[in-house]
Amino acid sequence: MAESMKGLCRTHRCTEVSHDNIGQTVTVMGWVQKRRNLGSLIFIDLRDRSGLLQIVFDEPKVGSRGFAKAGTLRSEFVVAVTGTVERRAAAVNEHLKTGDIEVIATDLRILSESETPPFPIEENSQTKDELRLRYRYLDLRRPDLQRNLMMKSKVAMLLRNFMAQEGFLEIETPILTKSTPEGARDYLVPSRVHPGSFYALPQSPQLFKQLLMCSGYDRYFQIARCFRDEDLRADRQPEFTQADMELSFVDVDDVIDVNERLLQYVFREAVGVEVKLPIPRITWQEAMDRFGSDKPDTRFGMELVNVSEVVAGCGFAVFTGALEQGGSVRGINVKGQGAMPRKKIDKLVEFAKGYGAKGLAYLAVNEDGTYKSSFAKFMTEEELQSLAGQMQAEPGDLLLFAADKNKVVWDVLGALRLELARQLELIEKDQYHFLWVTDFPLLEWSEEENRFMAMHHPFTMPVEEDWDKIDSDPGSVRAKAYDIVLNGTELGGGSVRIHQNDIQEKMLQVLGFTKESAYEQFGFLLNAFQYGVPPHAGLAYGLDRMIMLMMQCESIRDVIAFPKVKDASCLMTDAPNVVDQKQLQELALTIAASEEETE
Ligand code: ASP
Repeated sequence: MAESMKGLCRTHRCTEVSHDNIGQTVTVMGWVQKRRNLGSLIFIDLRDRSGLLQIVFDEPKVGSRGFAKAGTLRSEFVVAVTGTVERRAAAVNEHLKTGDIEVIATDLRILSESETPPFPIEENSQTKDELRLRYRYLDLRRPDLQRNLMMKSKVAMLLRNFMAQEGFLEIETPILTKSTPEGARDYLVPSRVHPGSFYALPQSPQLFKQLLMCSGYDRYFQIARCFRDEDLRADRQPEFTQADMELSFVDVDDVIDVNERLLQYVFREAVGVEVKLPIPRITWQEAMDRFGSDKPDTRFGMELVNVSEVVAGCGFAVFTGALEQGGSVRGINVKGQGAMPRKKIDKLVEFAKGYGAKGLAYLAVNEDGTYKSSFAKFMTEEELQSLAGQMQAEPGDLLLFAADKNKVVWDVLGALRLELARQLELIEKDQYHFLWVTDFPLLEWSEEENRFMAMHHPFTMPVEEDWDKIDSDPGSVRAKAYDIVLNGTELGGGSVRIHQNDIQEKMLQVLGFTKESAYEQFGFLLNAFQYGVPPHAGLAYGLDRMIMLMMQCESIRDVIAFPKVKDASCLMTDAPNVVDQKQLQELALTIAASEEETE
């Protein structure tokens, strides 16, 4: 039967006990990791969130009742142990923080018993994800997950420290709010008091933080939960956490400056990584041209080379055809892979097709300087030479080319570059390459909607000198928007905001809003801007992603205590779930029969 803690007080977490405590009496509490009986001694590894500590039960010290009780201990029992700290007699465990000591128990209390858990509670569990998530409360006992969540807590505290020192105020914004035009689908909450009306859960605190600038708070910060009803991908969750900020009377450089110091402080204090300042900056255009991506991984080279000029007028119709359509021909040089077998190249071609390529042209430079190629027969020797020259090809290199619209060429080569780096193991672990990507396009053409959409959001300020092209060539207008990228992942992003009514109105018009529809959606912001609004700018980090990169986790689920799975459900609670008829009635809702039922 479970005993009470009465009269006992925990003196240390397991790994807080050290050789400094030798000879002292300590009381530790935690879970039994495992029990071993060794002749007249019983050993247990006791676990809490700090780690493991070895406890020894020796009958003369713990008494016959205590010794018998220790013999009943099984994995995951919760116990309290009082005992004396001693240097380990034998078998010092160098892998354990407490590997040179043990506690010789004088008292044992079983605080709670445990069923046999459905999977072992251990580091790097091989257990299937589904089972782990169903029993998340057990999964969360695993040391690797505990380390991740402890790191998340530490980073949140460091962020708060830094922001407070820099004069930011932490202000909460509503969770029950109104749909905002951030691009993704909203989660909706029906209102009982206003039947037929819905709140939306925030996709980000964007409009509220801008309003706070209007209200004079001048530096706002929040660790904010955000909700987006999107189809989930590996690194997405329907609810996630942003470290969100907004500043008044600033421009791009001011936001970058504060954030560089923030990143340096947080990475140094949290994981001992020294971020060198200033963090390199490249424009979106340069990022696309050199890496085929707006979030380039700069831990390795293999940059894209534009060979359009060199192949213009050559005899290979795939290349010239793409150029005639206004596209480009670009390539990457896969160093030393000239002897890559045909089968492997064919696989890369298939991979490229997955990113929209019609094909992939290749040219391998043999060791003797001759070529092996899918298109050499369409080109003269001279044309091939200048192409290879442009690619800085040496004997033994493999050149891969894509020819299409710019967007397809970038997507294909950007993805190939990453895939090849993975296959060829070009990326050294433990490197942190930060990069600012600036000057994003303001607008992005949507084939689906047949109109321009805001690339960041409709409140992002255009680059002043581009603004007069907003009618003649809207696609070429750049935005004062920036992303911070770490090792090829977007860690955060933001922009300077529009604070002038005329620019905002024009922007909304370009995005296809009528005055009425704009006022209907965010009239409160437009109205607020009539009453004196400071120039302002902001940025938000994906906190979960930041922790994921710091802890080098494979999945975002490993840094969220209670995550959802791919279909946005929670395997532990079974959310979302049906509600009873009474609740629906109160909300004036009826559920339309599903398609299968009506068929
Ligand atoms: N609200 C933006 C986002 O969620 C961040 C920002 O512009 O500050 O991406």
